[in-house]
This record gives sequence, structure tokens and C-alpha cells, in this order.
Amino acid sequence: MRGRSPEARRDLNERNVRSRLVAWIVAGAIALTSAGVIESARPALAAEAAAATPTPPAAASVAMPKRPVYTVHQILPRAPANAVALTLDDGPNPSWTPRVLALLRKYDVRATFCLVGRQAQAHPDLVRQIVADGHAICNHSMTHPQPFAHRSAAAIEQEISSAQSAIVGAAGTAPRLFRSPGGDWSPAVFEAAAKHSLTPIAWNVDPRDWSRPGTQKIIDSLLTAKPGDILLCHDGDGDRPSGHGTDRSETVKALEVALPKLKSKGYTFVTL
Ligand SMILES: [Zn+2]
Repeated sequence: MRGRSPEARRDLNERNVRSRLVAWIVAGAIALTSAGVIESARPALAAEAAAATPTPPAAASVAMPKRPVYTVHQILPRAPANAVALTLDDGPNPSWTPRVLALLRKYDVRATFCLVGRQAQAHPDLVRQIVADGHAICNHSMTHPQPFAHRSAAAIEQEISSAQSAIVGAAGTAPRLFRSPGGDWSPAVFEAAAKHSLTPIAWNVDPRDWSRPGTQKIIDSLLTAKPGDILLCHDGDGDRPSGHGTDRSETVKALEVALPKLKSKGYTFVTL
């Protein structure tokens, strides 16, 4: 220290004191941490760090699922244990949707309608009736193209966003659910659905009613339902040239039998 000015010596002394103080604090912190004493301080520090991190935009914070919902309690954990959900796809259809709605009213059942955007646009009165009757609505793409999942990300996004606009325009309320045409899923589909805050839904009881297998086969399949199952039927065909036509008379006849039977077995129908 000899030869340094008084200011320089004071400076050095202060630095020594400071570094000793820092060393003492660090040693103390290490001792306390190893003793588990300041463990509880960590969440506060983490919270501060999180607060300092800019919040990502709302859309990005929607967790992107890797698979769709297959059962009621995956999406409605507080639903009654005996809950089942009936979903009706590819409408609305002017011939068949009113008949299905009449049956649902008759048996006091609420269902979830997976609407094709183009059909919703063409039949807004039916969409409004579906909502007025207390049923839930689901985005089922604009034109129901198949296969769906491996189209370009832009095409998938376009199908979902156009349908969302068409359905909102008809229903006055936005769907929160998305069902991929044909149940065909891919990361691009999950991403586009998440972007619109739509929960992807599938099913686990499929009577393949669209193929018109015979009324009894549809009934038998629906009656295999177990608590929590999501049932799939069709009130339209998305107005696409499927070769199966839009004859949903087997579906209507099957629901006429299956709905009261499922209710008498103690099931509670819920909307998704
Ligand atoms: Zn469909």
C-alpha cells in the first residue's frame, strides 16, 4: 500500500471490505441452502424471474395437445360418472337435422353438433335452432375435405378459420371444439385448432351409421356405450358427393330406440 495516495488506499480498503462482505454473504447463503433454510425463498425468486419475462401472446399460451379427447371426462372432469355424450356430424341438413332435433327434444337429450361450415352458411336457421335447443356446437371444417390431416398447414388453417367464421355468423356464438373430418389428426391440425382455442374431440363409439349398415346394427353399437363414452352419429353428410347419399333414416330410427334405452340404463347425456 506504500506509495498509494490516501484516496487510493481508502478505495482499496473499501474494496477489501466489500469483497470480504460478499464472500461472507455467499458462504452464509451456501450454508443456509445446504441446511435447507432458504429453500422457501426459491419460489419467490422464480416468481420474480417469471414476472420479468415478457408474457407470450394469449394464443401461444394454449397448450397444443398431441391427441384429441376420446372420452367425456377428459374434457369434463366434473361430469357425472355415468355421463355419455352424443355427437352428430356433418350437418346441418334440412331433411335430417330437424328430425334429429325433434327426437332430442322428445327424450330431453342435449347433444353436440359438429357442423360443416358450408352447411352452417347455407342453413343458418337450423344452426340457430340447434343453439336455441341447448345443444353444443363444434367446428368440423368448412368443406369436410378428406383425407384432412396431411394437407398443407395453410389449407388446414383455412378450413378451420373459414368454418369458425361461418358458424359464428350463423350461430352468433363461437364453437370451442374442433373435430377433424374423418377423425384424421396431425400436428398441423392440432396447431391450427389451438390457434383458434379449439379443443380437438374424437369419439369412442362408432356405429358407422353413415354407411347405412342397418338400423339394428346402429342400435346395437350405441347400446355398447359405457360411462364416459363419446358416441358418433350423423345428421348430414356435409353435402359432399360421398356415394352414400344423405339418407339418415336409419340413424333417426336407431336414435328413437337407443336414446330412451340409454336413459333407462341410467346414463346422463352431456354436451362437450
Ligand atoms: Zn364428418
